[in-house]
This record gives sequence, C-alpha cells and structure tokens, in this order.
Amino acid sequence: MKDIRPLFDYDTQGPLYIAGPCSAESREQVLTAAAGVAAAGIKTFRAGVWKPRTKPGLFEGIGAPALEWLAEAKRTYGLNIITEVATPDHLEAALKAGIDGVWIGARTTTNPFAMQQIADALEGAETTVLVKNPVIPDVNLWIGAIERIYNSGVRSIAAVHRGFGTHQATMHRNDPHWSVPIELHRLLPQMTILSDPSHIGGRRELIAPLSQQALDLGFEGLMVECHPEPDTALSDASQQVTPEQLGEILKSLAWRRTPVDADSLRDYRLHIDSIDSRLIELLAERMEVARGIGELKRRHGMAIVQRERFNKLLESAENRATSIGLSTTFIHQIFSAIHEESVRQQVDEVKKK
Ligand code: PEP
Ligand code: MN
Repeated sequence: MKDIRPLFDYDTQGPLYIAGPCSAESREQVLTAAAGVAAAGIKTFRAGVWKPRTKPGLFEGIGAPALEWLAEAKRTYGLNIITEVATPDHLEAALKAGIDGVWIGARTTTNPFAMQQIADALEGAETTVLVKNPVIPDVNLWIGAIERIYNSGVRSIAAVHRGFGTHQATMHRNDPHWSVPIELHRLLPQMTILSDPSHIGGRRELIAPLSQQALDLGFEGLMVECHPEPDTALSDASQQVTPEQLGEILKSLAWRRTPVDADSLRDYRLHIDSIDSRLIELLAERMEVARGIGELKRRHGMAIVQRERFNKLLESAENRATSIGLSTTFIHQIFSAIHEESVRQQVDEVKKK
C-alpha cells in the first residue's frame, strides 16, 4: 500500500485540523458551527449525519436531509466537508451530495463484512476515506479495513486514532493505547494519521492535553468535535467545546517540523514515548490495586508494611531482571521507589476512616 497518498504536506503546512459537531442537528446549528470553524482557520468541517449509538432510543442523526446543510456550509464558507458512512446507502447519498470525504467509524471498522460492503461501493469513487481505529486495540484489524478501502482503488486514505473501548475505569473514555497507532505508522509510514482527542478523552478539559500529546508523539493532525452550544449537543455533549474555544486550544499547541533525515530517529523516539505512556498507565493501575489493599488492611486492622512480602517481591523482581540481562541495582532502585509510593497510597487509604 506504498502509494497511499498523504492528505497534505506536514512539513510545509503544519498539522491538519478537522473540526465540527459530533452530529448535524439543524440547519442553523450546522451553519453556525461551520462559520466558527472557518473563522478559527480550519479548512475541513465534520458533522455526523448518521450516528451509531450504543443504545437504541438515543439521537441517531437526521440522516440524508442533513447532507444538504453540509453542502450549504461548503458553498457558504468554502470548507471541505466530511461525514461518517457505515453502509453503501450512506456512501451513495454522501457522494451524491458532493461530500469531499467520508470517515468510517470505530464500530464499522471493527466489522470486516461492513467494511467490505463499503469498499465495494467505493469502486471508482474519487474521494478521501478516513478510517477510524476499530473498537479493540488490534492493529491488524485496522490495517485490514484500510486494505479493503485500498483494494477498491481509493488512494487518498488516512487513519484516525480515537482510542479503544475498555471495561476498566480510566481517566479516558477510550483507552489511547498509543502503541497501536504508532505501530500503524511504522507499518504505513507515508499514510497520514490524525488523532481524535474528543473521543479519546470524553471530556472537554482533556482536548488540549491529549492534542499536545498527539502532536508530540508525531501525529500529523487532529479531528476534534466542536459545537456552537456544547452543553445542549444531542450527542457527546461533554466532550465538545465551542469553535472559538477550539481555536484558542489549537493556537496554544506546539508542533515541530520533522527534519527529512530524522525519520529513523523519530521512529525510535515514538516507540520510546509509547512505552513510557504504557509504563505510566501500568503504574497508575498498580497504585489503584495498592489502594484496594490499603482499604482491606484498614478493615482488618492489619499493619501496612509487611516486610516479608516486600523482601519476596524484591527478590523475585531481581531474579527476573538478572535472567533478562537487566541490572539488579537498577531494579532494586525502581522497586523501592514503587513500594515507597505504594505504601504512601495505602497510608492515605488507612487514614480515611
Ligand atoms: C464520531 O466521530 O462522532 C464517532 C461516532 O466516532 P467513533 O466512531 O470514533 O466513535
Ligand atoms: Mn461523537
């Protein structure tokens, strides 16, 4: 898939931004959002016309009639317009309405049958297709979906990282698993990959930090949700900001040009960054368990530090470290620091009574 075309030239143009409401709700809402997006200097406008909802009975989008509002936004503000398609019928209606591109949502990417039907309907179409990651962190399922689109003849393809469903309570709505899009980048280096901080974070205050993290990790742009009145949005209200607020967030982001000869260095650094993110997530998970233990010890009146347990833990970590060539001093230092923090968290838990 070496001839997938990058959507734009990051080195000369800077990051690519796509923004707009989760859902197209009314003509007025679409046109107001589009005016705000254009005023923020963003050139591509997104709005969902057909909405995949977890449960029935929620707002499922206006459907095909809303495409006319997007077309009007394109005519009035000179924006490129994109929407989500999940079936050949959606695609046909979107193409007829003069859409510039479509995105495939996470739930659809997860289903090879649905992907194949869309790919078959795309044969011969001149459009751009953005493929969101599947719901589960499986890079091959994501690549398979991209390959189906590629086999239909489309060459303007990009990927959008929106995080992965999780049953664990984390700070994010969808777990970023940064290593998955980074692996995708390693396998398809010429393909544009954007990040979607709205769906990853699920909360508007996470848009700025997640956007910066994505740019720091080498993503070439962002797809972000914004709404003229976020709190009244009919879907994903808590993760949207106004177009003006989004403009401010984007202005605050730092991005760096990539020297052309630094590609391999960049790949190593992306890999390191992704490992570091995982380390932090694992440490957070470990501390959560430590707090659970603290609670248990409090209920049973047990001592917090049980020296014998710590000695055993250290001994087994050092043995494992030696067997894979890591220095025992290093492992001793790391585990002592982890243990110290774990004890501190347990003490906090015990004090709670
Ligand atoms: C969306 O972009 O509004 C959307 C439904 O996205 P996802 O498929 O990532 O949930
Ligand atoms: Mn949404």
